[in-house]
Amino acid sequence: MRLSRYFLPVLKETPSEAQIASHRLMLRAGMIKQAGAGIYSWLPLGFKVLRNIENIVHEEQRRAGHIPMLMPTLQSADLWRESGRYDDYGEEMLRITDRQGRDLLYGPTNEELITDIFRAHVGSYKDLPMTLYHIQWKFRDEIRPRFGVMRGREFYMKDGYNFDLTKEDALHAYNRHLVSYLRTYERMGLQAIPMRADSGPIGGDDTHEFLVLAETGESEVFYDKEITDLKFGDREIDYDDRAACQAVLEEFTSRYARTDETHDEQAFDQIPEDRRRVARGIEVGQIFYFGTKYSEPMGATVQGPDGKPVAVHMGSHGIGVSRLAGAIIEASHDDKGIIWPEAVAPFHVGIVNLKQGDSETDSACEALYSALTALGLEPLYDDRDERAGGKFATMDLIGIPWRITVGPRGLKNGVVELTSRRSGENEELSPEDTIEKIAAIFAEVDLPGKGV
Ligand code: ATP
Ligand code: MG
Repeated sequence: MRLSRYFLPVLKETPSEAQIASHRLMLRAGMIKQAGAGIYSWLPLGFKVLRNIENIVHEEQRRAGHIPMLMPTLQSADLWRESGRYDDYGEEMLRITDRQGRDLLYGPTNEELITDIFRAHVGSYKDLPMTLYHIQWKFRDEIRPRFGVMRGREFYMKDGYNFDLTKEDALHAYNRHLVSYLRTYERMGLQAIPMRADSGPIGGDDTHEFLVLAETGESEVFYDKEITDLKFGDREIDYDDRAACQAVLEEFTSRYARTDETHDEQAFDQIPEDRRRVARGIEVGQIFYFGTKYSEPMGATVQGPDGKPVAVHMGSHGIGVSRLAGAIIEASHDDKGIIWPEAVAPFHVGIVNLKQGDSETDSACEALYSALTALGLEPLYDDRDERAGGKFATMDLIGIPWRITVGPRGLKNGVVELTSRRSGENEELSPEDTIEKIAAIFAEVDLPGKGV
């Protein structure tokens, strides 16, 4: 992309309404624009990041054997009356009446809708296990929308639902989700710690939340410091291997890690004092096992091996896709701006032309642009006729992980400058070596593909 032809409305001033870094930076970097309280438009740069996150989520879900689909944002109130949640859900639910007087709602989650689909089409235990998921906008009329996309009213969420014959099978689905979530967050450059949580209006007994540690997080968390040393890393896992998934669950959940809702002072005090941590975290996902809570009242049964109907065991599993854009920034920024992890970066490499209009400099930039594109990377070429300082500031603000600076003086010596956004380190290299180095860096990165 050439910046002269792009739409990147960066702000010079720090918006006064933004209280935390990610909100400030998303506004300043021209990623989002508020459309209403807790409702945002995703401007081109923000949209690219959102898509990258979404595609990673899709790819990791599919890797775990889960099936993508799409349900609508508007749902019929009648389904929610069946489960009994129409009244329970309260004021967070946005209720709408259509011209025929029918009660609708903007979905805050989809247990009812998916259960309705399941009961209409699945009749035999032989069709199980099955996990369906979608990534769709949700609406919750939060009393205090704040921090930009972190606590929006309209937000983008992956929600998946497993259907299993037995509790044991459903717990394997739970473990599978836990494993795939660990992989998903790490692929985005985040450490998200599974913590024992409270199930809230979704209901159920087993539930873990995934939290990214950050001072600005809304949840208070209590954990054993040792847990932060755990990495999923690049291990390959067979998602059908029950023991392997169970082992990962045990590895990642055996140390104390809880949110304030389930915190147990006595158990916490058992941890050696120097390992006890009280901190704040951002919830980026949650998994639940809730048995037959929906399948029973809604009649989602299958014919079991003995021919008798059995209510299926279910769980639901959410990832806050739009919140993740903010959470990644909270975890990765400095006073100049955002520092994108390579895998979610909106552009991989920035090219700064120090003397636009100088034919040699221009053609060196064009050559780098083509070479990067040929590697399958997306460069952002600042081809505007602007001061170098302004160009650097923009690249730093929007967080492009690598920058190549091209000017007549360097070219005279056959070099350009390669700068890492994260470390700030500079290196002078020939254009060819620069491309080679970038190729090597990105060969290590699991970039998202097309998602579904
Ligand atoms: P919270 O406790 O933050 O209100 P929740 O527990 O009600 O969230 P879930 O039902 O678990 O939310 O939804 C799954 C994920 O969706 C959450 O882990 C979170 O990342 C994201 N999410 C929930 N509410 C919002 C919101 N208002 N804005 C943005 N993302 C949200
Ligand atoms: Mg939650």
